[in-house]
Amino acid sequence: MKNILIHVPHASTYIPEEYRRTALISAEELEEENQFMCDTGVLGLVPPALEENVVAFPYSRLYCDVERFQDDSEPMEAYGMGYIYTRDSKGREMFRPTDAHRAEVSAIYNQHHAELDRRTSEILEEFGKCLIIDLHSFGDTTVNRLFGWTDFPDVCIGTEPDYYSEEIVDGICNLCKGLGLSVAMNYPYRGSMVPNRYFGKKDTGIVSGMLEINKRVRGTRSHGRRPYRSAGVR
Ligand SMILES: [Zn+2]
Repeated sequence: MKNILIHVPHASTYIPEEYRRTALISAEELEEENQFMCDTGVLGLVPPALEENVVAFPYSRLYCDVERFQDDSEPMEAYGMGYIYTRDSKGREMFRPTDAHRAEVSAIYNQHHAELDRRTSEILEEFGKCLIIDLHSFGDTTVNRLFGWTDFPDVCIGTEPDYYSEEIVDGICNLCKGLGLSVAMNYPYRGSMVPNRYFGKKDTGIVSGMLEINKRVRGTRSHGRRPYRSAGVR
């Protein structure tokens, strides 16, 4: 075990069949949205030596998004994309979850966060510090469709003020730049995951950084450029 935890919240496309059947868009449209919103292939960026340190959420974000707050403080709730999505990225109504669905998804959400708390505490007990990498990929089209923004970096690093290390962020920036990748801080996404047990606390020993890899970067692999893997999370 190393003092690192890699959180992969959006790499699964699994939606339970009985929930799929309640969708208000067609099965094809749902699957297209599922693929569009998924952080496809991002698990492949994790070096084998760190596979044990991964906590990957096993459901699609269209079913449960563990990176959204459950309460009213969640800004994406306004887009129908809180921890349970009701709208798709085109603004169409996608699901109308029942109370039973909400209870089921809440339980899965809470279980995942309990696991993040537990794994982080284990690392802190052993090492006194824990580096959390919140690992995602993003598509220019997705962000543009949702927010209308343009001009995106190859890699976006998201940070949290109380869980920040200049040394680590500089290290990641230099690694990316060395590979010819452009880097932006907290754009188009900002912040990083901090486990609930430690959120809002100072001097926890936790450094958390979000890595959002632009999907176009991985797409360059087949063009004979240096494999992206080397820009991973070592
Ligand atoms: Zn993501």
